Amino acid sequence: MQITDLQISQVNDRIKALVKAGSFYGKKLEEAGITGISTAEDFEKLPFSEKNDLREAYPLGLMTAPEEEIVRIHSSSGTTGLPVIIPYTAKDVDDWAIMFARCYEMAGITNTDRIQVTPGYGLWTAGIGFQNGAEKLGAMVIPMGPGNTDKQLQMMMDMKSTVICSTSSYALLLAEEIEKRGIKDQIHLKKGVIGSERWGETMRQRISNELGIELYDIYGLTEIYGPGIGINCKYNTGMHYWDDYLYIEIIDPVTLKPVPDGEMGEIVITTLVKEGAPLIRYRTHDLSRIIPGECPCGSKHPRLDTIMGRTDDMMKIKGVNVFPSQIEEILHQFEECSSEYQIRISHLDGKDTMRIYVETNGSVDFADLAKRIAERVKSKIGFTPLVKVVELGLLPRSEKKTKRVIEERYD
Ligand code: ZN
Repeated sequence: MQITDLQISQVNDRIKALVKAGSFYGKKLEEAGITGISTAEDFEKLPFSEKNDLREAYPLGLMTAPEEEIVRIHSSSGTTGLPVIIPYTAKDVDDWAIMFARCYEMAGITNTDRIQVTPGYGLWTAGIGFQNGAEKLGAMVIPMGPGNTDKQLQMMMDMKSTVICSTSSYALLLAEEIEKRGIKDQIHLKKGVIGSERWGETMRQRISNELGIELYDIYGLTEIYGPGIGINCKYNTGMHYWDDYLYIEIIDPVTLKPVPDGEMGEIVITTLVKEGAPLIRYRTHDLSRIIPGECPCGSKHPRLDTIMGRTDDMMKIKGVNVFPSQIEEILHQFEECSSEYQIRISHLDGKDTMRIYVETNGSVDFADLAKRIAERVKSKIGFTPLVKVVELGLLPRSEKKTKRVIEERYD
């Protein structure tokens, strides 16, 4: 998506605020001698920002609005080192609620729905984001927070909750408990709004079937408001995101150059109107692509595909960037394949080679299936792998996460 003139002028306003506040990004701009931009090319010359920059600004170095305008902070849980603290102005909090309310509307949720919120409340953005958006919509919130499944199910029945907000794993747990307790006829859920952790189609089907509800994927990250910056519509053709608040680029994580719409790469986000802690060209390390064309729902808001993983998972084969999820998606299209596969990357005769081992679940011509899979990979991703089809049960399985990609290049 090319940046528009309006978005360019919004970026210029943010640049002024960042320079004035003397934040890390303001300093980066000053060092680069940048005081503003006037074209899309100028925009692409702006430096990126990274999570590490944000950590180094701990505790309040990101604060870009005057202290008296800051009404709240949130924090992303750092697994290592310092957390990131994001200050919000009253307008930021309100903008976030507006975006989140739009997400609910996109999912067909209205002010007569009763929304049970199970993500956590506290320093992080999850629970309170779901709540503020629901209140903005005018729906009734049942603010449960996480855990205590007995109480969750009791309230779900007594309050006749129609919407469940949760992670995919908690939704699955609730679905299984409802089944086990035989209380499905007392559950009134119609829709689920599920946080954007990566989850497979199989899990999605299970939750959807067992609870008998429609599922919607919500996207967001604490650094950029929180959850609620995008969601899929009922046509399920990717997540519409709010381009009046955010400008999203997809870049090649190696060359750092923007890729054309439709191509896979790293999501980079610029906040257009955020005051407390604006971010310009923030590298999320999430992998996805912009879906070209128009959605059947008629919404003009552009679409991001499902998050396909993290840039850290990326493999480079014969100069092509490949992600395990792309291979998985292709294998998923072959009904003859089981869900098990293994990818081995090696260096053969001075060339990168990808070998894909797949299990078949029926009696098929192994060589023919291998050939068709290799051709599909070539046409979708751009290189030909060596494919070996094996019998069901031959690939290793483990209780924990099965290691599916094995790197055998040691040079
Ligand atoms: Zn749509």
